[in-house]
Amino acid sequence: MASAFDADRSAAAIGTTTQCCIAGGGPAGMMLGYLLARAGVRTIVLEKHADFLRDFRGDTVHPSTLRIMDQLGLLDAFLRRPHQRLERIGGWFGQERVQLGDFRGLPPRYAFIALMPQWEFLDFLAGEARKLPAFTLLMRAEATGLVEADGRVAGIRGRSAEGEFEIRADCTVGCDGRHSTVRAAAQLAVEDVGAPIDVLWFRVGRDPKDNDSSLARIVAGHFVVTIDRGDYWQCAFVIPKGGADDLRRRGIDVFREQVVATVPMLASRIAEDVRSWDDVKLLTVAVDRLTRWSKPGLLCIGDAAHAMSPVGGVGINLAIQDAVAAANLLAAKLRDGRVEADDLDAVRRRRLWPTKATQTMQVAIQDNVLVPVLGSAHSELHVPLPIRVVTAVPMLQRVFARLLGMGVRPEHVRSPVA
Ligand SMILES: Cc1cc2nc3c(=O)[nH]c(=O)nc-3n(C[C@H](O)[C@H](O)[C@H](O)COP(=O)(O)OP(=O)(O)OC[C@H]3O[C@@H](n4cnc5c(N)ncnc54)[C@H](O)[C@@H]3O)c2cc1C
Repeated sequence: MASAFDADRSAAAIGTTTQCCIAGGGPAGMMLGYLLARAGVRTIVLEKHADFLRDFRGDTVHPSTLRIMDQLGLLDAFLRRPHQRLERIGGWFGQERVQLGDFRGLPPRYAFIALMPQWEFLDFLAGEARKLPAFTLLMRAEATGLVEADGRVAGIRGRSAEGEFEIRADCTVGCDGRHSTVRAAAQLAVEDVGAPIDVLWFRVGRDPKDNDSSLARIVAGHFVVTIDRGDYWQCAFVIPKGGADDLRRRGIDVFREQVVATVPMLASRIAEDVRSWDDVKLLTVAVDRLTRWSKPGLLCIGDAAHAMSPVGGVGINLAIQDAVAAANLLAAKLRDGRVEADDLDAVRRRRLWPTKATQTMQVAIQDNVLVPVLGSAHSELHVPLPIRVVTAVPMLQRVFARLLGMGVRPEHVRSPVA
């Protein structure tokens, strides 16, 4: 919620000139805002919502992000926020138990995935950032377009409860997610990588007696992810692309039956918690990336530069990695007022390869595991050979966990402290 403190700073911020103006207070925007302000760069973050308490947007804080928190000296405080710890990733493939990842080979302080609601994560970062004098967060402030001057982007136009505003900035960053207004206004071209699936998200109360914390449950024709959130299961039901309308026409009872056939332990609570389609949210999955992430005066990072598939739960973590890389490359130059177009493009050069590699792995899993499972309603289900091999070899589970948890080309905090 916006504080009186924010209100004071926002009155002063609107209509001013700053060093960096960031559109979007998601993981990418909040982390970049924090790191730049920590380096003494006057930074304003615009967030269109009034608070962080909105729909489920992903819970999986990976070891790479925990390590960044540790490097910032924030990890202990961060982990005092409510969360669950996932040390191993496994599931059921039909009647067969499969084991895919084991994080316990990583350094103990981040040898797990922290399952923390995104609003806790963002609220924590916002709280830390607000302690920095160079940081301003404007809630209920929506970026609506760009200010352009002398052939470059010179700031953001926006709208708040008080009316239209303009903030001029040496550098503007689009962190406004996969439907980014900023990238559209900048006419940056998007390359669609393709996603053959969509996901239905819902939650079902967790019986304290449920002690099987498997993450994925697969039967012929259906794939359900169950994330343990303490007193409830956050569930993802994977469907073929565009299949939501067909499912809705068949009725909520049929949907509940399909879920319970895949995850029998949800049977006792699902009717109470999934009463109608209002309790089920559709995520239209997109995998895409910009061909250019910047133009003079402007940079896009996070989902605004590359929407990720939910496979692997990496979206938040990649957004954080982008923010760290951007701060490493730009903070000192921004502070000294000498950021050139090539400096902004350096962020794409640093982050394109990890983005491409991660998206390639996601597409391979979508195409070779998810699509065959969804198409197998009337055939026998076989555990794919690679999953069978990883289940049999514990060492491979540690390798997989390191790859998933740390990502490709993990970043370290190197931006200066003012
Ligand atoms: C249903 C769902 C489930 C997901 N599950 C996972 C998961 O389990 N693990 C995972 O790692 N990732 C998950 N993701 C993906 C993850 O949420 C994103 O990849 C990640 O949040 C990207 O961070 P970001 O900061 O780039 O963008 P976003 O998180 O999208 O943040 C963008 C922010 O900008 C704000 N904004 C948008 N437009 C404007 C504007 N014009 N002006 C001002 N503010 C604006 C938005 O309100 C938002 O706060 C999920 C996504 C969804 C939708």
